[in-house]
Amino acid sequence: MNYKTVVFDLDGTLLNTIGDLTDAVNYGVSHLGIKPSTEQEITGRVGNGAAKLLQRTLDKNNVQGDVNECFKRFSEYYREHMTCKTHPYDGIIHLLERLKQAGIKTAILTNKFDLAAREIAEHYFGELIDYTQGERVDIPRKPDPTALISIMDMLGSDKDNTLYVGDSKVDLQTAKNAGVRSVAVTWGYGDNESLKDADMIVDRAYQIEDIIFGIDFNELENNFTKRGFGFKLFDTKEQAVNYVVGECKGKSVGFGGSVTLDQLGVYEKLKDNGIDAHWHWRNEPIYMDGEIYLTSANGISKTGEVVNIDGTCNRVAATLYNTKRCIIVCGVNKLTIDLQSAIERARNISAPLNAKRLNKKVPCVITGKCEDCQSPERICKAMVVLMNPPTDMDCEIVLVRENLGY
Ligand code: SF4
Repeated sequence: MNYKTVVFDLDGTLLNTIGDLTDAVNYGVSHLGIKPSTEQEITGRVGNGAAKLLQRTLDKNNVQGDVNECFKRFSEYYREHMTCKTHPYDGIIHLLERLKQAGIKTAILTNKFDLAAREIAEHYFGELIDYTQGERVDIPRKPDPTALISIMDMLGSDKDNTLYVGDSKVDLQTAKNAGVRSVAVTWGYGDNESLKDADMIVDRAYQIEDIIFGIDFNELENNFTKRGFGFKLFDTKEQAVNYVVGECKGKSVGFGGSVTLDQLGVYEKLKDNGIDAHWHWRNEPIYMDGEIYLTSANGISKTGEVVNIDGTCNRVAATLYNTKRCIIVCGVNKLTIDLQSAIERARNISAPLNAKRLNKKVPCVITGKCEDCQSPERICKAMVVLMNPPTDMDCEIVLVRENLGY
């Protein structure tokens, strides 16, 4: 896909504005005696403009107030304090610089009021953004596509070569209404469930670069094979599963705990093919003595390293010793730019989501990032980095060009 223009949402997509927004909302309703809301509470109310945010705050507190008066107070306060705690998300400046260098046009389309949107965009991004459109009385708000269509016209692009990047259901609907492909970012204010209809979902800004500029799979293969890993790339999940089933025929197979393998239905496929497969996620004992061990990874770096974290540690143990052949199945969402990013991914994306899945009482379930807790329920008791396959182990990466697991 050849993209000429990328249009971004602002709050929760390019900028973490929640600290300043929270302070401004609290000031905006303080004359009504409403207790201050937390950043987490405000996060759950954003997405449809400031007036709606204030109305939701009044409603949550069961207060009948004049929302226009609150909006006036909010706006005055916010104009003076909108760059106090706000900051770009990790990797955003690098992404915008790369788009600029490549001659790709950039715009912001936000439901933030227009004057503030323009000032804040200028403050943080300067000439890295070509055009900013905020909320104005003469233009319908998102998810109406009018503003997005006019931005495309202005920048000389059309729906087929434009990408829209946002963090909320409103953003995805805006893109859909304009016929534009959407990218949902998981670091913003929208919950993951509301983002599932996006054309693409990313956890880190560098993945947007992969979407726009593509991934060099030849270089990737080279980086894994020169370390001694096998490497197979598949366009679809079905192709990858068929390959794995074929490799497992006539063999005994053990599984590591893996949402990826679960989503792919690999165990069921193996059983359907009469293969001697064992998985403790299917009411069987942990099995580490098979001829093949199937697992996934929490991060695989483009430089060829494999990162896994574990609580019980059977999974990481099987990738280290006494396994003859290990097949590691991953979606492209597990790809990171380097080892450091793979470790960061394992700690701040995989571990919190797995802790949430398992209903663990650990802080990352609340904060969405690793707090290095010492809880007995901590799910990341060990982290293993495979720099090369262990001695005497045949170890292979099966990469699928789709998002799988976390
Ligand atoms: S150390 Fe604790 S807070 Fe950090 S990812 Fe593991 S369980 Fe979550």
